[in-house]
Amino acid sequence: MQVTVFAPHPDDEIIGCGGSVVNWLRSGAEVSFVYLCNGDAGSQAMSRAELGAVRKAEATAGAAHLGVTDLVFLDQTDGCLAETRTLLTTLIDLIREKRPDVAYLPHATDGHPDHIVTHQLVTKAAGIAAGPWWPESTGAPWAIDLQLAYEVWTPIQRPTHLEDTTDALDLQLEALSHHGSQLDTMPYDAFIRGLGSYRGATLGAGRSAEAFEVLRLGTLPGRTPVS
Ligand SMILES: [Zn+2]
Repeated sequence: MQVTVFAPHPDDEIIGCGGSVVNWLRSGAEVSFVYLCNGDAGSQAMSRAELGAVRKAEATAGAAHLGVTDLVFLDQTDGCLAETRTLLTTLIDLIREKRPDVAYLPHATDGHPDHIVTHQLVTKAAGIAAGPWWPESTGAPWAIDLQLAYEVWTPIQRPTHLEDTTDALDLQLEALSHHGSQLDTMPYDAFIRGLGSYRGATLGAGRSAEAFEVLRLGTLPGRTPVS
């Protein structure tokens, strides 16, 4: 099983679906993280050049804490993510190269411009990658079986899949702790705990969960969405 997480910025992969990633890793799946922006606007404490390097190091350390070493940094400027033919081709190539069974990406109206553009880019690239299109890409067509949209800045109004992350929460928060430059500006650990507790309430007392919108549901066994 190959799982690819598309993150607008370093830390979104942990905040949006880090618990699910832990569950996938424990089930033996291979996980890749693809970062579209370099995160160099995520603080005023450093220059863009300094912060971009720091955030790449934080992402690498956080991912390693989970056991994920396959990282792709597309190095787009933080805060200015936009569709270009080159970037779209890169994403199509990545999908055809990694051949993920499952992909995670931000939901369509998540409250940050880079997140919205990431959703648009990845869904467009996934659609093109699935068929015999786009002459610049020479890889074989590949359809991502299960596509799940996660929430970071804006809660999903009608989740169609809840992942029980109760037993993954500690490791998820440990991985997040490597993102010190971001935790200095916002208590993202509290966000994960709070939203996780809220989403987990429907699963039972004391449970934690991540909520998703199922964008495309293929044939994976045991991953039936719940409403
Ligand atoms: Zn972000």
